[in-house]
Amino acid sequence: MVEAASFFINSETDLYGVIGDPIRHSRSPIMLNRAFADTSTNAVYVAFHVLPDQLQHAIEGMRAFGIKGLNVTIPHKEQVMAYLDEIDEGARYIGAVNTIVNRDGKLIGYNTDGIGYVRSLQEETGVTLAGKRILVIGAGGAARGVVYALLQKQPEQVTIVNRTKDRAVRLAHDMADHGKVEGMGWDDLGDIMNEVEIVINTTSLGMHPQIDTIPLDPKWLNESHLVSDLVYNPLKTRFLEEAEKLGCRIHGGLGMFIYQGAYAFEYWTGKQAPVKSMREVVLSSLEVNA
Ligand code: NAP
Repeated sequence: MVEAASFFINSETDLYGVIGDPIRHSRSPIMLNRAFADTSTNAVYVAFHVLPDQLQHAIEGMRAFGIKGLNVTIPHKEQVMAYLDEIDEGARYIGAVNTIVNRDGKLIGYNTDGIGYVRSLQEETGVTLAGKRILVIGAGGAARGVVYALLQKQPEQVTIVNRTKDRAVRLAHDMADHGKVEGMGWDDLGDIMNEVEIVINTTSLGMHPQIDTIPLDPKWLNESHLVSDLVYNPLKTRFLEEAEKLGCRIHGGLGMFIYQGAYAFEYWTGKQAPVKSMREVVLSSLEVNA
C-alpha cells in the first residue's frame, strides 16, 4: 500500500518522481513519500513510465511543470545527461546520473548510487575503508559508482575483477585519478585473495530469479573477509549465505537502495532523511511481495 502524505495535497505541494522503463516495480515512491510524510514536507513522489524516445520530452516537461526533483533509473541514467544544465563532478566520472535537482530552473545531475552504497557499508558494518584492500567483482554501471565512491575513502587498493576483463581494465583506467585501482581477469585472482579484506559483488549474479548463481567460488573466502552484495532481491543472496557459513561478516544490498534515496531526499529538501522509517516501509513492501 502506498503511504499517503500526512497533509492534504494543495497548491503549494511540490512534485518529485522517478523515471524509468520499466518502472512499475519501483519501491522509490513508497520510500520517498514516507520520507516526505515523516518530515512534514509538502511534496508527493510518483513513478513515471518514460520510454527512451520520450526522454528529452520528459526532461522538458520537468522544466515546464517545475518538478523539483527526479530519480532516474534504467535505461536512462547515461542518456539523460545530455539534457541537463550541469553535471556534478562525481556523476561525470561515473558517467551516469540517478538524481536530478531542479534548483530555481537549473537542472543539476548527481549520482547517489555509489555514495549511498558506501554510507550503507560504513553505517551497517562500522568498517573504516581507509587503508583497506578491496575486491570489486563486476565492472558494469553499478560498479562504476561504487568504485568511485570507495576511492573517495582512501582505501589502500581497489581491485576490479570481471567476466569481461577489458571492461575491468577500462574502469580501473577511468578511475585512476582517484586512487590506487587495478582491473584484472579471473585468472589473476589467486595472487591477491589473501591480501583482500573486503569483497563486493556488483554483478547481477544471485539476483531473483537466478538465486542459485554465485559470483565467486566460496573457496576463496575465509573469516577475515567482509563480504558485501549489491543485490537485495533476495535480501540475503546465496553468496552471502555461503560467506556467513565460513564465518565472514556480511552486508546486503538493501541499504544501498535506501541511502541512494536518502541522499536524493537530502539534496532536494536540505533536511536529514528519516532513514529508519524509509527502510521499514521498503522492507515491509518486500515481505508483502515475497
Ligand atoms: P550491468 O551494467 O548490466 O553490469 C552487470 C555486471 O554483471 C557486469 O560486470 C557483467 O559482466 C556481470 N555479469 C552479468 N552476468 C554475468 C554472468 N553470468 N557471469 C559473470 N558476470 C556477469 O548491471 P548494473 O547496473 O551494474 O547492476 C548490477 C547489479 O547491481 C544488479 O543486480 C542490480 O540489481 C544491482 N544494483 C543494486 C543497487 C542497490 O540499490 N542495491 C543499485 C544498482 C544496482 P560483463 O561485463 O562481463 O558482462
